Amino acid sequence: MIKDNIDVVKKDDIEIKIIRKLCISAATCVVYAPNTFDLDEENIAIIKNEEWDKLEKIIAAAQSCPVAAIEIFVKGKKVWPK
Ligand code: SF4
Repeated sequence: MIKDNIDVVKKDDIEIKIIRKLCISAATCVVYAPNTFDLDEENIAIIKNEEWDKLEKIIAAAQSCPVAAIEIFVKGKKVWPK
């Protein structure tokens, strides 16, 4: 759900947050985890609703973001950025 330009979705133990105002449309997140991230019509990253990629790919996608716009939580604990 996008609120205050932050997209947050939780599925099972994994929660993903995109701070959309930081996003510079680099799209590396989409390359690393294409089933989890996409760009909207304004080329700003969003979280997809389908079956997500494996956690390692999601974390790799977050790590690839040049502006650290993606945060990952597992069981409520922030795993990226550290
Ligand atoms: S990698 Fe970061 S800057 Fe690039 S599209 Fe994804 S969230 Fe935006």
